Amino acid sequence: MASGENSAPLRYVAALPIVGHEMQQTDFTTVATVTLKKGRDWSVKKKHPWIFSGAIHRVEGKPAEGDIVSVKGPDGEPLGSGFFGTGSIAVRLLTYGSERLSQESFERRLDDAFALRRALGLVDSAQTNAFRLINAEGDFLPGLTVDLYDDTAVLQCHSLGMYRYRTTIARRLECLLGGRLRRVLDRSASALEKNAPGQSVQNEWLRGEPGEALILENGHTFAVDCAEGQKTGFFLDQRENRQALSQYCAGKRVLNAFSYTGGFSVYALKAGARSVDSVDVSKRALQWVDRNVQLNGAQERHTSIAADCFDFLRTIDGKYDVVVLDPPAFAKHRGAAEGAVRGYRSINAEALRRICSNGILFTFSCSQHIDRELFEDAVRHAAHESGREVRVLSSLGAGACHPQQMQHLEGRYLKGLVLYVGK
Ligand code: SAH
Repeated sequence: MASGENSAPLRYVAALPIVGHEMQQTDFTTVATVTLKKGRDWSVKKKHPWIFSGAIHRVEGKPAEGDIVSVKGPDGEPLGSGFFGTGSIAVRLLTYGSERLSQESFERRLDDAFALRRALGLVDSAQTNAFRLINAEGDFLPGLTVDLYDDTAVLQCHSLGMYRYRTTIARRLECLLGGRLRRVLDRSASALEKNAPGQSVQNEWLRGEPGEALILENGHTFAVDCAEGQKTGFFLDQRENRQALSQYCAGKRVLNAFSYTGGFSVYALKAGARSVDSVDVSKRALQWVDRNVQLNGAQERHTSIAADCFDFLRTIDGKYDVVVLDPPAFAKHRGAAEGAVRGYRSINAEALRRICSNGILFTFSCSQHIDRELFEDAVRHAAHESGREVRVLSSLGAGACHPQQMQHLEGRYLKGLVLYVGK
């Protein structure tokens, strides 16, 4: 796919059980103490999971990237412990107050995450066998995501601290999933390259034979390229939104812009769309779209188009009744927010201007640095610019297997709107 995610080479380790693969890191001892500045302790007290470097008054000891540190308030009050980082997020909190983590309590967090997915009906579902099993801060495991694709778990550590526990994590997944788990892939390389530069980490299969996964999502089949695809291979956060799209598609002409491997396209086709066009700039992604459409037996009504969506949207006058806009994150860092807002405004204005009367627009932003208010503002401006009569039918977010801590607004990266475009 067109992504820096895939630059790291993949090392094949062995088709052996994880047990015996590597020493387990089980020590959660703190090695240094971080004291916060006056007036900068309130966010930790409210249980925001990150401490930024600007909030730190003093560091006692010499913590390295990934070490566990204690956190104290300006008056010495214990505020928690977490993974130390040398970037702008100086501590990712694991515990609050005087609680400290042990191997047992760490594993319990993995168990709790699994129990939540079971409660959501995802573990034994006959319709869906792919879901996010661990959602980082949202499951009290900062910097760790694990996506389960039927028999394949793909883990991604976004901090060196969490990476050190990957064998402990993989073994716990074995305990939780039993015989269902055949393969474990560690795809931490690109995330660590970004967050802990200088670390030489490779993606590797920790268990099982390399290969694609075949999953079922709400009864639809998808092939997932776990090793080379974007992120961990598939955007599981959109599952419920793809399902929501189905109700609008029967007999309609649908455009899936920024289609990636065709998630929304397959749902639209299976819901009886008259035609579906998938547009993406990545030819490789489009090969997977074709494959996924074929797996669901709907190729006659589908066309893949390799194009830049900014250009393509200018050519769609009156061609589509339903349009999906799910672009990549336009703002990769805080400083890029302004340009990103212009980007959202521009693509939404193009789509709104040209969609058919009584059309439906599904529009999304997955930029962490654009909050819901900013996104909706951009879409509101776009609606005004387009001169169309636009109404909001519903607001969308990430699926329930992506829980988010209440205080961690940065965790709510996925925002969406379903719009009805009248005259
Ligand atoms: N909706 C998808 C996920 C989209 S990811 C799903 O549910 O699976 C964003 C996609 O946009 C990627 O596949 C990327 O290749 C594509 N992309 C990025 N910039 C683009 C551009 N300017 N024009 C077309 N596609 C683009």
